[in-house]
Amino acid sequence: MVLLLRKYPNENDCCYSILNRFGFEYKTLVIGNQVYVNVIQGKITVGDRCAFEEALLKDTNVKRILWDEKTPVLLTDEQREKTVTVGRAVFGEGFHFIAGPCAVESYDALDEIAYQLREMGVGILRGGAYKPSTSPYSFHGLKEKGLDILRRVADKYSMSVVTEVMDTRDVTMVASYADVLQIGSRSMQNYPLLSEVGKCVKPVILKRGLWANYNEWLLAAEYIAVHGNEKIILCERGIRTYEQETRNTLDLQAIPVIKEKSNVPIIIDPSHAAGDSRYILPMCRAAKAAGADGLMVEVHIKPEESWKDSKQALSLSEMREILKACSDIRSVKEHTCHVS
Ligand code: PEP
Ligand code: MN
Repeated sequence: MVLLLRKYPNENDCCYSILNRFGFEYKTLVIGNQVYVNVIQGKITVGDRCAFEEALLKDTNVKRILWDEKTPVLLTDEQREKTVTVGRAVFGEGFHFIAGPCAVESYDALDEIAYQLREMGVGILRGGAYKPSTSPYSFHGLKEKGLDILRRVADKYSMSVVTEVMDTRDVTMVASYADVLQIGSRSMQNYPLLSEVGKCVKPVILKRGLWANYNEWLLAAEYIAVHGNEKIILCERGIRTYEQETRNTLDLQAIPVIKEKSNVPIIIDPSHAAGDSRYILPMCRAAKAAGADGLMVEVHIKPEESWKDSKQALSLSEMREILKACSDIRSVKEHTCHVS
């Protein structure tokens, strides 16, 4: 059990005397701005449980009692800000596109992509400078040189930058170039990394681990929030299933489920889900219809020459088609449901 407190308790605090009265052992801890008491469960009868809860709730310093610590709380709080602003885009309102290459390759190639995306009205540029790779022999990104290219190109076209950070030691440096920090699928349960981006002021896109269920994903987001950063956007990018035809399986049910369970904006990355540019357009349309707050897709000037993920890279004309195909899709968010 966990007690979330409003402020650090003094040693005579009411909650301590209640815990002592019921024979509990406990530890008071602080993460970011949040003070909490981790109660090491003692034995409590069902009858006592009610009296215990009642007594605690009378203590004005106790904000919340969590009987089960595996429940995300900050992200479900009705009081919290439900939108995340990135440049001119407000995630949580409307529908927004993030696009760019899998990896930053060169200034000129990125400049051409960004120029065309801007022309299409896309204001957020993605690109990896630190690339997680299954094989140690693959390309791992241009590192800080790639970040510098991203920033210069984005500034030239007044775009915002989304880029991945993989290592706790790089968070401050990557945040100095990026507008949004991306936590990749493979890092979703890297708790030191989540804690570190939680101390940043920049918004974070938290991709779903390819093996993570919704609660694990929301608890990973809670790690970021508890350290002080509530500017979180979740990104569904496909999960592992037995299907071999596509790279992963896009779980669009994540959209209504996450919206039901939390107040966090959610975007869809159909590129890493499908792993094949032929299947991306219908998934983009479906994601918008299902109520997603936006999309993140991989685009390249010459997809077949892309250094990474070439099979799933969209050409700029395919990107244009997707924007057009999504423009006439009405999101479930716009429907008002009348149940009689
Ligand atoms: C990416 O978006 O560049 C990426 C590596 O995606 P994921 O972490 O979802 O595999
Ligand atoms: Mn990729």
